[in-house]
Amino acid sequence: TRTPVTILGLGAMGTALAQAYLDAGHPTTVWNRTAAKAAPLVAAGAHHAENVEDAVAASPLVIACLLSYETTLAALGPAAGAVSGRALVTLNSGTPSGAREMAAWATGHGARFLDGAIKNVPTAVGLPDTVLYYSGDRSVFDEHETTLRVMGGDTSYLGADADLAALYEMAVGGTLLPALLGFFQGAALVTRRGLPATSLVRYTAKWLEMIISVLPVIAEEIDTGDYTRLPSSVGLFHEGIAYDHEIGVEGDVDIAWHLPMHDLLRRAVEAGHRDHSIAALIEVLRKPHETA
Ligand code: NDP
Repeated sequence: TRTPVTILGLGAMGTALAQAYLDAGHPTTVWNRTAAKAAPLVAAGAHHAENVEDAVAASPLVIACLLSYETTLAALGPAAGAVSGRALVTLNSGTPSGAREMAAWATGHGARFLDGAIKNVPTAVGLPDTVLYYSGDRSVFDEHETTLRVMGGDTSYLGADADLAALYEMAVGGTLLPALLGFFQGAALVTRRGLPATSLVRYTAKWLEMIISVLPVIAEEIDTGDYTRLPSSVGLFHEGIAYDHEIGVEGDVDIAWHLPMHDLLRRAVEAGHRDHSIAALIEVLRKPHETA
């Protein structure tokens, strides 16, 4: 017999989560502020709870996927008396401080709290490669790991501090926009020449694989503070600044998004990192600790 699961929040992601539990044969209860969004899931076999309190009471495992911690706290308010003893999992995006606030509310009302992050799109829910990570009450993860894996095969536990999942989500997410902007710049260059952006994908994908391949070395350099292993120096990137400006002129593209990065490179050179690996940029990126 499969663990009964409640899904709170039936946006794009919550709907996909609920559908995955229905597909996996779990008794599934759903609730959403706008009740009409539950209709397709009810047609697929879900139980619809009229209010959030009933929804929480319906299952030992309650998974909330609302917009934010703020909206989750607001929505769960009326169910404060019902969460005691339940495993409550939140899967919204947010900051570590938001996660700590959420955890304080949940544990304060007697819930066993686990915060998680899903690092993929709704259509990827349930696939073996889909990444989810969790932090908080280890006993919730251990007890429900098989059930949590229904949402994605690459499921892991980061640690007991409830804000770790939000911290890692924040840390991982930082790559997205800079990487996409790099691709958009390349697409601007080739489409200006009448070539399709699709012609670039194969080569950019290889380039990204190269970046992936050096991440472990870069991470070790950062962890040890020994920036001598990667043969791509700050100086080399610093010399590339002129080249970025040429791209702007020759390709007729706006390269203004590079300027803050150029500034980081100049400050790194000034700080004596010219011959160090590009990983030394973290030394100028990190703000000095405030001393109390
Ligand atoms: P949607 O905008 O599709 O859905 C938002 C959900 O939050 C709805 O169920 C909405 O209810 C509910 N909600 C918003 N405000 C309130 C409120 N004040 N009170 C009660 N309910 C509220 O978002 P997604 O489903 O796409 O995303 C949900 C979370 O998952 C977000 O934190 C998002 O960052 C994260 N996520 C999303 C991904 C994606 O690709 N979509 C990928 C990874 C994470 P109502 O229907 O009544 O408006």
